[in-house]
Amino acid sequence: MKINKEWHSKHRMPANATLDQRIQWHIQHAAACACREMPPSIREEIKKRKIGIDTPHTKR
Ligand SMILES: [Zn+2]
Repeated sequence: MKINKEWHSKHRMPANATLDQRIQWHIQHAAACACREMPPSIREEIKKRKIGIDTPHTKR
């Protein structure tokens, strides 16, 4: 697994992060780093909210 240390040092997850913050973090993390998989709960939440990761032009 490849860790983007620089990205991690700039994007610390707050200890009491809200769900919104965690979702945003994981979206950015997935684009910048591959040290770990996105948790299924986050994946589900993104699906529910229809946030496009690979397809920014998804219809709402
Ligand atoms: Zn990472």
